[in-house]
Amino acid sequence: MKFLLIGPPGGGKGTQAKKLSSKFNIPQISTGDMLRDHVKKLSELGRKAKKFMDNGELVPDELILQMMKKKLSSDECINGYILDGFPRTLPQAEGLNILLNEIGSNLNKVIVIEVSDDIIVDRMGGRRVHKNSGRIYHIKFNPPKNEGFDDITNEPLSIRSDDKKETVKNRLNVYHDLTKPLISFYDKNQILLTVNGEDSIENVYSNIIENL
Ligand code: ADP
Ligand code: ADP
Repeated sequence: MKFLLIGPPGGGKGTQAKKLSSKFNIPQISTGDMLRDHVKKLSELGRKAKKFMDNGELVPDELILQMMKKKLSSDECINGYILDGFPRTLPQAEGLNILLNEIGSNLNKVIVIEVSDDIIVDRMGGRRVHKNSGRIYHIKFNPPKNEGFDDITNEPLSIRSDDKKETVKNRLNVYHDLTKPLISFYDKNQILLTVNGEDSIENVYSNIIENL
């Protein structure tokens, strides 16, 4: 199975991708997590990407497409995947199509998670992450068992540096301008599934599963 998740920043893509990944036993491919890894390792890509990420802007398409070409042709992706955060622009979607054609493959479903902007601002304010695993919590909607600590490792949770109010606003603008047009791009292929992302985490998940 090959799925793709589209939704605003903080819309619940990572949360749902993790659940789908364990249900279907396929990897979650999150460009955000991959980029944060590069930033942490201080790789050349990480150094180039950091300034865009800090400002809530998109990393240039060529850099993303290069990174994803390598990833999607790796053994890890042989049995399918869930794309979380890629593609995010029309040139990225076109690049993905070319890549899929080259390897004789196609997407099974494009899942759109709809959440309004005012709810997003609330969600981002309460997001907490476990850096090493990428596990995602929310202080109100999905709290860890021990406040401030990861459920599995008991290591401290952190706040993403780009979850500041000003950066969130910028990321939402970028979503509306550059990412939303992907919905009509994929609508033509009739593989679109739209879900109400304002529902609870469990309800969003069952809505996806029932309609896949
Ligand atoms: P969110 O889903 O909350 O927006 P991500 O972890 O997906 O967060 O992305 C964090 C940041 O990483 C983005 O604001 C952007 O700078 C960069 N990024 C992630 N994926 C892409 C992509 N496909 N194209 C360009 N930039 C990206
Ligand atoms: P994205 O990957 O789209 O940026 P996340 O999955 O990281 O979004 O979710 C953003 C924040 O909102 C996290 O703190 C997460 O726990 C919380 N969250 C995700 N889905 C829901 C939901 N359906 N209802 C309430 N909070 C949610």
